[in-house]
Amino acid sequence: MRKNIVAGNWKMNKTLSEGIALAKEINEMVSSKENNNVKIILGTPFIHLTEVKKVLSNARISISSQNCAAEAKGAFTGEVSAEMIKSTGIDYVIIGHSERRAYYHENNEILLKKVKQVLANNLTPIFCCGEVLEEREAGIHFEVVRKQLAETIFTLSNEEFSKIVIAYEPVWAIGTGKTATSAQAQEIHKYIRGLIVEKFGQSIANEISILYGGSCNPANARELFANPDVDGGLIGGASLKANDFIEIIYSF
Ligand code: PEP
Repeated sequence: MRKNIVAGNWKMNKTLSEGIALAKEINEMVSSKENNNVKIILGTPFIHLTEVKKVLSNARISISSQNCAAEAKGAFTGEVSAEMIKSTGIDYVIIGHSERRAYYHENNEILLKKVKQVLANNLTPIFCCGEVLEEREAGIHFEVVRKQLAETIFTLSNEEFSKIVIAYEPVWAIGTGKTATSAQAQEIHKYIRGLIVEKFGQSIANEISILYGGSCNPANARELFANPDVDGGLIGGASLKANDFIEIIYSF
């Protein structure tokens, strides 16, 4: 059975003390509620990883970084390697967020290198894909997503691929307040799962969690998560407020 996951992406928000306070609040709220079998992930800035880990006592909550270097180590000033991330004791790394693709020119070749670094260090990649508005309007969104996957995580072995979490994030819905409709989300999640069946077989496809991301909030999460191929969400803005994030977690 694949996992239901709600992952927050804090992006470049929260000072260290604000981040610790938010993590503590989420930890307390989750611990005071019944376990609804949702894996919860906090995607914090690098400098928060170790301190946030110290304040989380609930086993359902894990931590993710939002990026890692494509190289293993060496003269890459300002970069943080997957090995360093692993050494903080966290479990997940977001790779290929559309903001990394757009602002830092991370192409499929770079993203595949990053995924390999993440896997080599026994971390779980949360691999993002998704089309921009012009591609959606031109009706080529299926092809765009297929290519993003074909040139990256679909080149992995079955064993490697089975460790991946996928986040489908239509770029036009990220931080815009525009959400894909529940039907649009299901349509493309089903398409992605079909591609996984073709490439890796039904049993692996059944185990891969595919998250939806793009202006997911307490008002629309329930409808989005009710779809058979939507296994949770990657949440930006709404993950910065404990109450909203908790409501989303309890939308299953
Ligand atoms: C994101 O950054 O991955 C995201 C989905 O952001 P938002 O929820 O704010 O649209």
